[in-house]
Amino acid sequence: MSIRQKVLFKIKSTELEKIDFPKKVSSYFGVNTFSTETMQKHISKGTFEAFKTWMSEGKTITLAQANEIADAMKEWAIAKGATYYTHWFQPMTGLTAEKHDSFISITAPGKVIEKFSGNKLIQGEPDASSFPSGGIRATFEARGYTAWDPSSAAFIIESTLGKTLCIPTIFISYHGEALDKKLPLLRSDEALNNAALGLIKLFGHKDVKKIFSTCGPEQEYFLIDKNYYNLRQDLIMTGRTLVGAPSPKGQQLEDQYFGTIKERVVNFMFEVAEEAYKLGIPVMTRHNEVAPHQYEFAPIFEESNIAADHNQLLMELMKKIALRHGMVCLLHEKPFAGINGSGKHLNWSLADDKGNNLLNPGQTPEDNLQFLAVLAAVLRAVYLHADLLRASVALAGNEHRLGANEAPPAIISVFLGEQLTSILDMIEKGAKSKVSKSDIIDLGIGRLPKFNKDTTDRNRTSPFAFTGAKFEFRAVGSSQNISTPIAVINTIIAESLDYVAEQIKKAKSTGKDFNSAVLLVISKIVKETKDIRFEGNNYAQEWIKEAKKRGLPNIASTYQSLEALTKKENIALFEKYKVFSKEELIARYHIWIHMYNLTLEIEANTLNEMVNASVVPAGYEYEKLLAANLDALVKLHKDASLKVDSGALKDKKDHLAEIVAKIYYVRRNVGEMVKLLEDAGKLNNEKRAALYFDELKPLMEHIRRHVDQLECVVSDDAWDLPKYREMLFIK
Ligand code: ADP
Ligand code: MG
Repeated sequence: MSIRQKVLFKIKSTELEKIDFPKKVSSYFGVNTFSTETMQKHISKGTFEAFKTWMSEGKTITLAQANEIADAMKEWAIAKGATYYTHWFQPMTGLTAEKHDSFISITAPGKVIEKFSGNKLIQGEPDASSFPSGGIRATFEARGYTAWDPSSAAFIIESTLGKTLCIPTIFISYHGEALDKKLPLLRSDEALNNAALGLIKLFGHKDVKKIFSTCGPEQEYFLIDKNYYNLRQDLIMTGRTLVGAPSPKGQQLEDQYFGTIKERVVNFMFEVAEEAYKLGIPVMTRHNEVAPHQYEFAPIFEESNIAADHNQLLMELMKKIALRHGMVCLLHEKPFAGINGSGKHLNWSLADDKGNNLLNPGQTPEDNLQFLAVLAAVLRAVYLHADLLRASVALAGNEHRLGANEAPPAIISVFLGEQLTSILDMIEKGAKSKVSKSDIIDLGIGRLPKFNKDTTDRNRTSPFAFTGAKFEFRAVGSSQNISTPIAVINTIIAESLDYVAEQIKKAKSTGKDFNSAVLLVISKIVKETKDIRFEGNNYAQEWIKEAKKRGLPNIASTYQSLEALTKKENIALFEKYKVFSKEELIARYHIWIHMYNLTLEIEANTLNEMVNASVVPAGYEYEKLLAANLDALVKLHKDASLKVDSGALKDKKDHLAEIVAKIYYVRRNVGEMVKLLEDAGKLNNEKRAALYFDELKPLMEHIRRHVDQLECVVSDDAWDLPKYREMLFIK
């Protein structure tokens, strides 16, 4: 029996303690967060007012006030059992980082007290030299600083033997450059706020003080049993299977999505939700996804910065809690070849401090007009900056997913739906519509119907789809930190909102009335950006041809996508809106290319080891079996005159020859791969990434195809690597 087969007997649900009664969520939602309400209860009125002014107007608080908040935070955390604290931040490599310090402070020899000062709350200094900075920070000044982000509540992470207070922070260099993903997001929200306020003031909304982006990231993931995982060095090292034959039943029956959720999976989901609620993360829906053993969590949307922190936390919770249930949570974009990958649908909209959604068509024709102006800004932004959107989702894992048959292609286009499309067509033509009188407003150059959001009209293949009061950016990878895609969306839309406002003012200055001026600007943008709109099937081959005709970029590789970050006009855009400086952008470009290369090198080295240490020995084992069998048969034929059908004998020989050839072939290709890696070592990062994309990846695919063929013939007894049918179907 193979090790793999032994493991099959171990697959079972973990024994769980039964909970007597379900707790009401509202009774414990956010208990582990130092929310604004909790803070208010623990600090003086004056300090709380100062804190609130800081949040709404940006006037910072005094050190004495910071000390008061730090002390309150410490007391609250200690009362809840925390003994350590950490500044929690999001370095440029995607994971979150922590450096834990104890609260203790020595007062006399052998005596300690718990202490936490405002200084320590506001600023920390992790040993930053080990975080990538892309050249921003020279080693002689390797200091990086974490600085408190007071807009995101501090929280307590519980582990079995202790609790840690986590303080959300940004991570910056000595000179204030962003070394993380959060600071650019915060800056982009500022840019968006200014631009959006400028536009809606024109529409008469003088009372609105703040506009911000909102996000609801739908998180897809796979679960597999830990016993299988332990036997797959590719999953352990790279998060995806580098080899593995497709199982006869994949997702073709489409019987998974509405199937019932297996009990052990439901238990996992219950526990994730409970932990998430304690941290104030509003997860709402959970369901099966299209692929076997694939699932999704969707939260209720929140302000972007909070949504981004919550998504990072949720991913961490999912990984941690899966282990408690004897499973591993795979967040990779494409863990299994040939079946759906995992994405993160990033739902994005704009909200104001009065609770209005700027992408909600609204009740009155006037509201509709403002909605259409914002919509036009979005169209223009995506039309002009599709390259930046593509760059914001460029990573090795997503390269496997984008453009594969079940994910949006690397071509960025916008879907609006039938109703909106017909309205835009009408505005463009300035034509009279057929809608009934009560629904329309006559604006001189055309008629505008009262617009109802229609959420039934869906196109699930579009990378950037209007889905009723929000856009859904579907190209984001499941493992990604959403901060960068949000920062890009916010910035390009800020620029377009500014443009729309300016154009309206210009049109008005020629003597047009306001409504006509707005319609004129909208109709101009609608015309100019028409090529970015696509209502059809984004997965179809015809779309690829059509998009090419329209001149829309279709960049498959990560390294070429990332080049958008180094383009002069893009640098100018980000500098204008103070989201990224040139240095910060170039640094990101270098880090992400480097990450790509490291990912591929780890994959190739893992494949090399797997083939030589696991696949080939299994092949030899089988070869030996066949050879011995043939040998015995020939002997019996000769020595004992056993009658053997010549066809049967030939079949045996051919089969053996085929196995010998395949093993040889696989080994030869792996040898070539090793040579390629050696040669790549002499190249700079960009050239190396190109070589990996153009040659290494196809070579790895090639090796895989042959290994997968071996998997289908080598005796089941000799094959140690868990198979797709087991990992995905025996739960
Ligand atoms: P689906 O798109 O799957 O039909 P929903 O429309 O309910 O499901 O929403 C999906 C996600 O979109 C949820 O996470 C939800 O919170 C988020 N969402 C809804 N409205 C907004 C909004 N105004 N801004 C950002 N995200 C939103
Ligand atoms: Mg959705």
